[in-house]
Amino acid sequence: MSARAVLPESAIRIIGFVGLGNMGQPMSACLLRDGFTVQGFDLAPAARDDLTAAGGQARTSSAEAVRGADLVILMLPGSDAVESVIDEDGFLGSLSPDAVIVDMSSSEPLRTRALAERLAAQGHTLLDAPVSGGVARARDGELTIMVGGAEKDVAFVTPVLKSMGNVTHAGPVGAGHAAKALNNLMSAVHLLASSEAVIAGQRFGIDPETLLAIVNTSSGRSWSTEYKWPRFVLTETYNSGFSLGLMVKDMRIATGLASSLHSPCVLGEKATELWARAAEALPPNADHTEVARWVRMLGEDQ
Ligand code: NAD
Repeated sequence: MSARAVLPESAIRIIGFVGLGNMGQPMSACLLRDGFTVQGFDLAPAARDDLTAAGGQARTSSAEAVRGADLVILMLPGSDAVESVIDEDGFLGSLSPDAVIVDMSSSEPLRTRALAERLAAQGHTLLDAPVSGGVARARDGELTIMVGGAEKDVAFVTPVLKSMGNVTHAGPVGAGHAAKALNNLMSAVHLLASSEAVIAGQRFGIDPETLLAIVNTSSGRSWSTEYKWPRFVLTETYNSGFSLGLMVKDMRIATGLASSLHSPCVLGEKATELWARAAEALPPNADHTEVARWVRMLGEDQ
């Protein structure tokens, strides 16, 4: 992780962090390494223990985690969990008057907008700042962070976000969540397309490593062929730390958004249907890179 002198530029000292899973754990560790105080909560006791071991302060509820915090970060599965945490008894009442809530989960942009409006009416500010990069880049503090919100609010939270990665202001509230879902739809299409192509090539007699080497200096390359295939699929480790279920959730957010805007999304909808079939066929905790294994299983039926 690159060292950054974050504290001197920021008025923020205490961070309430809810959701300490695959991503929340390394992200909160970055904040601790940069000198912030992190008060955290997760439903899973093991996740709370990890925070304590990293030097953070585990709390017994979300409301306790955000009490006295200058900034609140939510890193939860999606909009359902975000809304249920915010609506928990005592959560809003525990917030300091100037505290800003940043939803870094991959949530639904239209629900985020509605939530931000509802909170604004109660005097609270909500921004969206979802991330791309996965667990490895979360550990290194090198995530891509796309923020939705008003300029002045984004400027206020940016010094803290810089502890976890590189920040781009995507637009008004919800724009970060829209950008994230659309990114993941593209990423999922690339992984599925490359899985079909590499497996077809192998059936023809081209070694997958050879085909990937050719593609990676040709026009078919993508993050899937350059990174995911060699790292997680060829090694059969399937341990990227991003579940297949969460990928399907993101794809549905993106196709739902396109549909609400009457924007064509024929390929995206077909890909989502195929990924949902993979989710049904694979174990519930399958890694998203196992979609390649599912494509191979489909072929074995023929
Ligand atoms: P995860 O399932 O590992 O972690 C989510 C955590 O939230 C869990 O530890 C769970 O116990 C906790 N949680 C759920 N409901 C809660 C509640 N009501 N109160 C307190 N804690 C609660 O998921 P993750 O992989 O860390 O992903 C988090 C978010 O980041 C998701 O929106 C995901 O789509 C997104 N994301 C993940 C990756 C990745 O590579 N894993 C990359 C980019 C974005």
